[in-house]
Amino acid sequence: MSQTMATQDERQPPVVGDRHVDPHFYPEGIAFLDGQYLPMSQAKISVLDWGFLHSNATYDTVHVWNGRFFRLDLHLDRFFGGLEKLRMKIPFDRDGVTEILHNCVALSGHRAAYVEMLCTRGASPTFSRDPRQAVNRFMAFAVPFGSVANAEQLQRGLHVAISDKVRIPPASIDPAIKNYHWLDLVRGLYDAYDRGAETALILDFNGNVAEGPGFNVFCVKDGKLSTPSIGVLPGITRRTVFDLCAETGLAATATDVSIAALREAVEVFITSTAGGIMPVTVIDGAPVADGKVGPITSRLKALYWQKHDDPAWSSQVNYP
Ligand SMILES: *Cc1c(COP(=O)(O)O)cnc(C)c1O
Repeated sequence: MSQTMATQDERQPPVVGDRHVDPHFYPEGIAFLDGQYLPMSQAKISVLDWGFLHSNATYDTVHVWNGRFFRLDLHLDRFFGGLEKLRMKIPFDRDGVTEILHNCVALSGHRAAYVEMLCTRGASPTFSRDPRQAVNRFMAFAVPFGSVANAEQLQRGLHVAISDKVRIPPASIDPAIKNYHWLDLVRGLYDAYDRGAETALILDFNGNVAEGPGFNVFCVKDGKLSTPSIGVLPGITRRTVFDLCAETGLAATATDVSIAALREAVEVFITSTAGGIMPVTVIDGAPVADGKVGPITSRLKALYWQKHDDPAWSSQVNYP
C-alpha cells in the first residue's frame, strides 16, 4: 500500500469537561481520507463540506465477519449507483475502492468490522454554490462491528413502536441512493423512546409501514413473508432474505405492508448490515403472536450467518 499512515503517537486524548468532547476518539478503527490511512480519532473533515452542511452525500456500509467481507460486490454496486445518480466522481474504480476497504480492515486488525465507504459533495474552492464546482471527497473506514440490537434484544426480540412520521418520499430522494436524510427516522426514534420502545418503524407516504433507522422490516403470516416495497432503501440484508427464501422454498414478496398487517403478523423481524436478521417480539406494547422469537426468523437468521463462510457470498480480507 503506497499511502502513509499516521502513527499511534499522534493521537490526542479527548478533552473531557470542555465544551465539546470529541466523540471520535472511540471507536478504534482506521479511516482512509485524502489519500492517507489514519486512526479514526484523526479522520476529520471541514465543517464547510456540503456532506455535513447539506447532507449532500452518499454512502454504503458492508460488514466483515470472521475476517470475511459479506456480499461486498452488492454493496459496491449500490455505492457506485448512488454516485452516478448524484453525479459525483471519485478518483477510484471498483478495484481501487475494494483495495482501500481491505486496507482499512487489515490495518484496523478487526475480524468483525463495520466498514463504510462514503462520498460527500465536498466544497467549491471558490465558495461557489454550484454543485458542479465542488470537489467530491471519498472516504472509508473500518470500526468494530456494531448492531442495531444488543445481545439481549437479539435473544428476546426488539420492542418496536410504529411512529406516525413519514419517510421522505421517493419522488424527493430516490431511496436506492443510500443517504443521510435521517431526520424523519430520528424523529420516529424519539417517538419510540417516548413510548418506552427500543426502536421505531416509520411510514411511507400512503400510511403503510416503510422502514426504521437503518433497517428494513419483514413480517410472516400463513408461512409467507412480506416486506414493504416502496419508499424504502433496497437493503442488501433484505435482498439476502429473498435469496435465502428462494433457496429454502419460502414465499417472500415486496408489497404494501399496512400497520394492521404488521400487528397481525405471527413473526416480525428487521434486517440491516448492522446486525443481520433481528427478531421483533413487541409492537406498540403488544406481543407479536405469543411474544417469542418465531421459527422462520430463527431459521433464516442461522442460515444468514452460515452464509458468511461461503465463498459464493463472502471474501477473505487481505490481512498481512
Ligand atoms: C442501510 C439502510 C438499510 C439496511 O440496508 P442493508 O443493506 O441491509 O444494511 C435500511 N434502511 C435504510 C434507510 C438504510 O440506510
